[in-house]
Amino acid sequence: PEDQPPPDPTKKTLVILGTGWGSVSLLKKLDTENYNVVVVSPRNYFLFTPLLPSCTTGTVEHRSIMEPIRNFLRHKKASVKYYEAEATKIDYEKKIVHISDDSEIKGDISSTEVPFDMLVVGVGAENATFGIPGVREHGLFLKEVGDAQRIRNRIMDCCETATFKDQNDDEIKRLLHMVVVGGGPTGVEFAGELQDFFHSDLKKWIPDITENFKVTLVEALPNVLPMFSKQLIEYTEQTFKEETITIRTKTMVKKVTDKYIEAESTGPDGKKILEQIPYGLLVWATGNALRPVVKDLMSQIPAQKDARRGLNVNEYLVVKGTENVWAVGDCAVANYAPTAQVAAQEGAFLARMFNQMAKTQEIEQQLSELSVAQEKAPNKDARDQVFTEIKELQKRLRRVKQMGPFEYSHQGSLAYIGSEKAVADISWLSGNFATGGTLTYFFWRSAYLSMCFSTRNRILVLMDWVKSKVFGRDVSRV
Ligand code: FAD
Ligand code: NAD
Repeated sequence: PEDQPPPDPTKKTLVILGTGWGSVSLLKKLDTENYNVVVVSPRNYFLFTPLLPSCTTGTVEHRSIMEPIRNFLRHKKASVKYYEAEATKIDYEKKIVHISDDSEIKGDISSTEVPFDMLVVGVGAENATFGIPGVREHGLFLKEVGDAQRIRNRIMDCCETATFKDQNDDEIKRLLHMVVVGGGPTGVEFAGELQDFFHSDLKKWIPDITENFKVTLVEALPNVLPMFSKQLIEYTEQTFKEETITIRTKTMVKKVTDKYIEAESTGPDGKKILEQIPYGLLVWATGNALRPVVKDLMSQIPAQKDARRGLNVNEYLVVKGTENVWAVGDCAVANYAPTAQVAAQEGAFLARMFNQMAKTQEIEQQLSELSVAQEKAPNKDARDQVFTEIKELQKRLRRVKQMGPFEYSHQGSLAYIGSEKAVADISWLSGNFATGGTLTYFFWRSAYLSMCFSTRNRILVLMDWVKSKVFGRDVSRV
């Protein structure tokens, strides 16, 4: 392919990978006039992941929590290039990103290279399966819009198949057994949403399934939601009991087949039991794993030799062992949990830093011009005037350069647990305050609503909530 020169050769090219929480929050605050900005991501929209579990049952429609990246970029001051592609390899030495168009429609050119001066890696993470056989073939994940749609369809498919004429009892039980593996917030929120769907809609539309519809949450550790306080864990477990969601803790899934999972549970006497649990729907939510493109980048940088969970970054989010590569969000390890909150704050921090770097450069340029002007000044008065200007600029430069390292400010953790209840650990309310219950649920709703990307998203989500309350959720399978 012909090499196109950057739009403005006097500016550095800043390549940003990904359109998730980290990258988009960087783009939101970045003054794009300072760089030639290029965004590469296979997803041409931002996804508000906190409401993704609600999309699996149709409480919220998926398009309500998507914001097209084109829509957002067109409001930026200077134009930003966007390529719908996946970064397949980052060549750190050559400062090049190899990109490939993986969508259905491909042109004559579907893979090429993008050179960079500065690179931000915000590609997020993959779903962890720990190499457990059968998970990828038979389980469904919950990370992207497509996943939520697949789950929504599978729930309905299981219900319709269970009520097929002459279906036998064991098969009905299996088909209506909804198993969620992983008791982190993703698994818990999904289980809660699913049980809500059953209680408020499914059993009304399809009364035949009422006896056999069952949700089970399987967790390897002794309790669910390990990042929440003990009190909230108990509250969640109690709520699940009332909702008739079965929690199977200390149960580790070892194998998955098309009709059952094989799990090893530890009894009260410490004895290990291997059992087969039949399922109709299996949602696999056991957390994050590294993306291949990140793993490959790590292998090119000696300082990343010991990195395991993601790119090791310093307190300015620079990938250790590099000078011009930064990482944000789930693909970076900065001692924080892989959450949207962390990713968003990291992105905003980088934007501030990049804006300041550009300002610093501009002032330094002005200073060097002024020092020439000072030498050439025709008389003392003119020299003095330039001198005052230099002093002013130096003061400004010191101010601009004063940027501390990234510090994460935790606003609290929130999770929806079904039957209009939510749990919250809110640090800014009188120290470490933990709460759960219906009030928290309204707080959860308003907090998420206010965090939505745009007013458009906010209105759409609000309308979805009203719609599903008034008319019930839509049970058609598409
Ligand atoms: P992501 O948001 O995952 O974005 C990664 C981006 O990179 C995507 O645009 C992707 O398409 C793109 N990409 C992938 N591969 C490539 C490639 N090779 N080249 C270029 N681009 C690529 N966190 C909270 O704090 N609160 C919550 O309530 C919450 N709820 C959640 C609910 C669910 C169901 C899930 C799955 C997660 C939830 N999280 C929540 C976690 C949160 O979503 C993540 O921590 C956050 O998305 C991380 O942001 P990120 O920018 O690193 O990655
Ligand atoms: P997670 O890593 O938080 O939890 C995964 C769980 O799966 C763990 O408890 C683990 O013990 C269990 N597990 C692993 N292998 C297993 C096996 N073979 N059998 C049974 N159990 C097994 O994953 P997540 O819930 O997807 O969350 C990922 C990240 O996203 C976290 O940082 C989380 O905080 C964040 N998130 C936050 C929210 C929220 O704040 N509401 C919602 C969703 C996700």
